[in-house]
Amino acid sequence: MEISSIAVDESVSTVFPPEQLRDALVDIVDVMIIDAGVDSLEPYDAVVTMAYHDSYLEGVYWIHSIQAGVDRFPFDELREHEVILTNSSGIHGSAVGETVAGYMLSFARRLLPAVKSQTQREWSPPTWDDAYTLADERCCIVGLGTLGRGIVKQASALGLDVIGVRRSGESLNGVRTVYTPDDLHTAIRESKFVVLAVPLVDETHHLMSTEEFAAMRDDAILINVARGPVVDQDALVDALEAGIIGGAALDVFEAEPLPKDSPLWDFEEVLITPHCAGFTEDYYRNVADLVRENLVHIDAGEELINKIV
Ligand code: NDP
Repeated sequence: MEISSIAVDESVSTVFPPEQLRDALVDIVDVMIIDAGVDSLEPYDAVVTMAYHDSYLEGVYWIHSIQAGVDRFPFDELREHEVILTNSSGIHGSAVGETVAGYMLSFARRLLPAVKSQTQREWSPPTWDDAYTLADERCCIVGLGTLGRGIVKQASALGLDVIGVRRSGESLNGVRTVYTPDDLHTAIRESKFVVLAVPLVDETHHLMSTEEFAAMRDDAILINVARGPVVDQDALVDALEAGIIGGAALDVFEAEPLPKDSPLWDFEEVLITPHCAGFTEDYYRNVADLVRENLVHIDAGEELINKIV
């Protein structure tokens, strides 16, 4: 396989201007910005994209997703058409870790209600026993890959008691106990914060639903930086309404953008961010570094890094 030209699809503009990525790559390969929903892929060997288009199946040898989550791509069809798919896992740990630290601090230090009061010009201190500190609170991180490790780093620095869940159950520095998915309920039972950082696959679809919320503390905060469908959103709304859990910080949703009529907007103890937990001004540089590295691997006839298909 030889890659002499790369298309950057307009869809990346959800996260950064496509021109930034083009300019970061033009010294090593021909790069053009296209709208893959309309333009032909024929002149290009590879595409860097956020969206998936069926035209990729016939048009290119290699697709690079600027996201870590590639649940929107049809793996079987890509295999059938011998199209390689790589993702951007590995670049989001620090950004998402800091965002999750921000969520936890917003709840503990009551910054969430303070910001809501500010928009109403209201001077409204929390009640005396409403605020708490994070030190020694238990935080269960479900998924200990790139994202999970970034969250472990920040949670440990804040003095939280960090436990985790991962497929392998293998131990990890900074995580006191690691459970397998079979012991999810044991892991989340005593945790003040339950943070989701798993890929969306069949086994993680609605991983958190009515039974899981019932197993959690009634003051627990659910944090989802994974993918919307990892949480059964209707069951979450029911759990929040019934006070079965204490609150949630959500970056991802079953439908995005979150519809204006979603009840999630209205809860006092829900913090919503618009799928931007991994945003950073370095995003395009980090993607460019991955693409460059893989171009070197292709030249050397080596396996690509972050190869999914
Ligand atoms: P990685 O592949 O690096 O890590 C995935 C982790 O999930 C691994 O620890 C894996 O276990 C664990 N895991 C997989 N299945 C299960 C399961 N059923 N139960 C418990 N743990 C499981 O992925 P990343 O950390 O890079 O990304 C994870 C997901 O986060 C992405 O797929 C994407 O959807 C989302 N994401 C969201 C972002 C945002 O902006 N909100 C930004 C970036 C990613 P093991 O280690 O044993 O294999």
